[in-house]
Parts: sequence; C-alpha cells; structure tokens
Amino acid sequence: MGKGNLMVKGQEYVVLAFFKEKKIDYIYYEQDKLIAFPCLNCQQKLNMCSITTFFSCACGYEGNLISLIKSSFPKDIRLYNPKKEKKEINKMLNKLSIKSLSDCNKKTIDKAIIKINNLIEYYEKNGSPNNK
Ligand SMILES: [Zn+2]
Repeated sequence: MGKGNLMVKGQEYVVLAFFKEKKIDYIYYEQDKLIAFPCLNCQQKLNMCSITTFFSCACGYEGNLISLIKSSFPKDIRLYNPKKEKKEINKMLNKLSIKSLSDCNKKTIDKAIIKINNLIEYYEKNGSPNNK
C-alpha cells in the first residue's frame, strides 16, 4: 500500500466517523469507493465518492463532506439497508420459531423462514421484476 492509498483510507475513515457521529445511516462500498446515505433533501439513497467526497442526488441536492458538515440534519434519517433488513427478519422469525409453543406453528414458521430466504436469494440473483 503506497502513501497515497493510506491517505485515501484515512479520509474514508473521517467520512465514516462523521456519519456515525451524526447517526446517519450509511452503507460503505469499499470496492467501489462509494458511501451511500439518504439525501437530506428527498431522503432517497445517494452515493458519495469516498475519495473526492462529492455527491449529487437526482433531486438536485449536491455537495461534499464540507458542505455536509455545515448542514443541519433531520433527526431520524434512515436508509433502507437490505442486508440489515434480511438479518433482522431472520432474527425475528427465529425468535418466533423458538418461542412457538405448538409444533404446528413452529413448522409453519420454519417453512416461512426457508421460503423468505429463497425468495430473497432469487431476487438477489435475478434482480427485481420491476427492473426488467
Ligand atoms: Zn435528493
């Protein structure tokens, strides 16, 4: 790793630390050098380049880390994170399965867990039908 790479890494950590401190949901795509976060204006997901920190949204809102630091953030700004959602759904269903008193309910819940995960996997491989 050269000196330049180290500097980029350091900067990425500064950006991520900023999002964490402000309690803004983000997804870090290390390979793509992108950090996704919800637009302050329209709440849609937008991508920031983790090298230049520049971002722009379809709604016209754009800026960089400096302008973000100067902005005030709405309290509860959430980003839909499919991986996190999947984990949470599985956790909920497993809890239900364990707590189910009747065997019949448990079997149905266990079947539903398998079906939901197969469905998610299907969409992960084939994409949403809306994109076709
Ligand atoms: Zn926007």
